[in-house]
Amino acid sequence: MATVTFIGAAQQVTGSCYQVESAALGRYLFDCGIHQGADDVEDRREVKFPFAPDQLDAVILSHAHLDHSGNIPRLVQQGFRGPLYCTRATARMLKVMWEDALSLYEKDLEYENLRRARRGAEPLQAAYDADDVVRALKLCAPIAFHECHRLNANATLCFHDSGHILGSAIVELKLTEDGREKTLVFSGDLGKRAAPLMHDPELLKQADVVLMEGTYGNRDHRPMAATLQEFETVLHETWERKGNVMIPAFAIGRSQEILYHLAVMHNAGKLDGWQIFLDSPMGIAITNIYDECLELLDQDDLKQVQKGFCDSIQCFLPQLHFTKDQNASMAINKIKSGAIIIAGSGMCTGGRIKHHFKHRIWNERNTVIFCGFQAKGTPGRHIVDGAKMIRLFGSEIAVRARIATLGGFSAHAGQSDLLNWIGHFQPQPRVMLVHGEAETLKVLKDKLQTDQHLLAHIPHQGEVITF
Ligand SMILES: [Zn+2]
Ligand SMILES: [Zn+2]
Repeated sequence: MATVTFIGAAQQVTGSCYQVESAALGRYLFDCGIHQGADDVEDRREVKFPFAPDQLDAVILSHAHLDHSGNIPRLVQQGFRGPLYCTRATARMLKVMWEDALSLYEKDLEYENLRRARRGAEPLQAAYDADDVVRALKLCAPIAFHECHRLNANATLCFHDSGHILGSAIVELKLTEDGREKTLVFSGDLGKRAAPLMHDPELLKQADVVLMEGTYGNRDHRPMAATLQEFETVLHETWERKGNVMIPAFAIGRSQEILYHLAVMHNAGKLDGWQIFLDSPMGIAITNIYDECLELLDQDDLKQVQKGFCDSIQCFLPQLHFTKDQNASMAINKIKSGAIIIAGSGMCTGGRIKHHFKHRIWNERNTVIFCGFQAKGTPGRHIVDGAKMIRLFGSEIAVRARIATLGGFSAHAGQSDLLNWIGHFQPQPRVMLVHGEAETLKVLKDKLQTDQHLLAHIPHQGEVITF
């Protein structure tokens, strides 16, 4: 008998973490991500795992996003000794992701401890440090797509391309117990079909149990063509107003997709005289990894921006500036108009985007373009929901810039994509809907029942299933 315990991303989007346990396998985790939205340092410090990290045999990581990978250094700090299975591209990105997350965490902690010191309270201790990140990186055991890896005499692991970001995987785990083979599939985050730069999510055919993400299980995204048209229009209108554009973007995936679309527009002569700033050290580092892994991306998409020999985004898009250090970032503040600023974090919980908001969000000439999922409780969600004021660095700032939400840019499968993907399993597996807000997953569950006569289950946090 095998069990799956739904530790995180059960009836919510972030904090992906599932424990899989059986006599044939041992004790494994699928993902170990952080909760986003709870951006209070004390909350983040209080990560208590409902299992003993030193009792885990391995972690299988679907992809590098922090809501899937961010707690692994803490896991190591608390005694996890590996291995950490992931794809090769994921392993390359983890270093960048984890170092960036640590430096944000340390800055927040320092700020919080200063506040505590002022009121005579005890300082908070750091939950993990740079040594834990180094140790966690050493635990990576990279496996290429389709290169099935024997975990032990009774268990095999395969990664399939999930088409979400560079290196993102669908996890297929085969166990032999009591002479019977059982297959557990974890979708990870599934990409959209026909997404730029990414391949379509691979279709699997057989499984006993499938954990499927449902971030956008309640609806389809706007068609890409309409989204791109709106993107072009919003940019052009802001250009005419002599404004600037701020795009909060996730460093992995979204930033590269936006740059790709800008390169397509540039190539078609449809981009006004914008100067483009990728103002995120992590975004720059990840973009460089995309450049190094061009062969893993969709070659038809690349042909659209490639003129002659070009092997980097700065070659596709010559007006793009990488602003790595803080002085270069602050110099952007002096620009009066004509700047497109892409900065993290994606949900505006930290990073340089907050500084750009402070300088520009109160000015009606400017525009903020949201192109990614904004979780409940994040500053990004407040702004999208129409907040007139936001609190930044201790002061209230008016939101007067134009706010544009472009739904089509999502790196996640929409409802039809999810139905299509799960519909390829024959016979129907047991389906667990995860990585989505409760109301969203309920809509997806109902749709699966009416369209495919499939009875899916929505596990709650802490629930255990056996198979
Ligand atoms: Zn993801
Ligand atoms: Zn995710």
